[in-house]
Amino acid sequence: MIKLKKVKSAKTMKVKEEPLVLHTLRGMKDILPNDQPYWEQVRRTTERLSREYGFLRLDTPLLEFSNLFTRSIGEGTDIVEKEMYTFVTRGGDKVALRPELTAGNCRSYIQNGMNVLSKPVKIFSTGPVYRYDRPQEGRYREHYQVNFDAYGEQDPILDAQMIQVAHRIIQTLGIKSVQMQVNSIGCPACRKDYRELLVNYLESKKLKLCQDCKRRMGTNPLRVLDCKEDKCSQVAALAPQSVDHLCEECRVHFKTLLEYLDELDLPYIINPHLVRGLDYYTKTVFEVWSSAEEGKKLSLGGGGRYDKLIKMMGGEDTPAIGFAFGVERVIAEMKRVQAKPYKLPRPKVFLAQLGNLAKKKSLRIFSELEKNGILTAESFGRGSLKSQLRIANKLGVEFTLILGQKETLDGTVIVKNMITGAQETVSMDKLVDLIKKKLKADNVVVYHN
Ligand code: AMP
Repeated sequence: MIKLKKVKSAKTMKVKEEPLVLHTLRGMKDILPNDQPYWEQVRRTTERLSREYGFLRLDTPLLEFSNLFTRSIGEGTDIVEKEMYTFVTRGGDKVALRPELTAGNCRSYIQNGMNVLSKPVKIFSTGPVYRYDRPQEGRYREHYQVNFDAYGEQDPILDAQMIQVAHRIIQTLGIKSVQMQVNSIGCPACRKDYRELLVNYLESKKLKLCQDCKRRMGTNPLRVLDCKEDKCSQVAALAPQSVDHLCEECRVHFKTLLEYLDELDLPYIINPHLVRGLDYYTKTVFEVWSSAEEGKKLSLGGGGRYDKLIKMMGGEDTPAIGFAFGVERVIAEMKRVQAKPYKLPRPKVFLAQLGNLAKKKSLRIFSELEKNGILTAESFGRGSLKSQLRIANKLGVEFTLILGQKETLDGTVIVKNMITGAQETVSMDKLVDLIKKKLKADNVVVYHN
């Protein structure tokens, strides 16, 4: 007799569920309400300054085809080699979460024919970027950048203006002690000779380099110059410097940039070891450092020219320059130097209601006050007047509007002055004007236009 195996039907089979992990992924974090005033300050300052310096806002998707990044940022870079979040979609596309904003902006510039706009085309963008790095202080797997790019101008005056914008942002955010570091890594023509010279030098010091740098020598030798390992820094200190091996065009470009910077009185130094981690840079590179910080230092932002990138991607030959700040690092520095966060407007009025009829009316009154720019607090869920007044006191409002059963039927509201305790009853249709008058003109919190 044949014994039939008992097979559980799909319906009866229980799939063991993975436990729910109530925690952000490693290297990622929530931006909690408490911290938002700092973020708001960065948002407002960068948006305002971007407008004042003629930048147009551009938002691009978080996901792009992954070869957009591998080709532009470069195969031999840390970002592409180790840090990209890459995956294949259900449709079979190879995509990646953006590790920076410039590549997507360039893609958009070409795709949307922005080359017809008057030059330079200045683009401001901001949002999260993703790098699968080893998380540590100031280094996250998701961090936010504010990014400025300008297309179509090769005059070094634009380089100077970009450095000026970067400096202005940091100063406006209250970080006063800051140092701009600049360098020129030349164009592909002069870099070829310089690279050869550098590789020869590094070969002679190979034994003194860390494992990563031994590998970098073949893929990206310039990166050896900004390796943080002590032994590599010692080798880098005596290495040939790119500024001494620039072609005539790059030399004049750099010299003119320095003249502009001198004119601007910006606190800058030439750092011959500054090379930046992305392959697309040409000529000017720069970084922003807090100059007051002791101990372990991290750059607040950086950028440079990328004159060949748009053409390499398939667009017209278009010189370009850009830079980005890491928002988390900027905010950490703001906190360290006790820079002021954005001050959220505080309500001056509290709307209290008593009884069902009043509760129904209160939503409409609240909306009337809001439409007239009078920032009002409420606690509609609470029934007792005592507890509502307690909240009003805690908030430190100037007036509490009390709407009870009687007032609702009469079409009136009680206006209680929270400082003197005086009360008056006013008709509902006069309420907005009266409150506006009472809150001295400069005290009226107009929080929207
Ligand atoms: P980059 O795109 O590498 O030139 O970085 C620009 C700026 O972003 C840096 O100067 C940092 O302020 C910030 N940044 C870069 N990588 C990270 C990271 N992993 N975590 C936090 N901030 C970062």
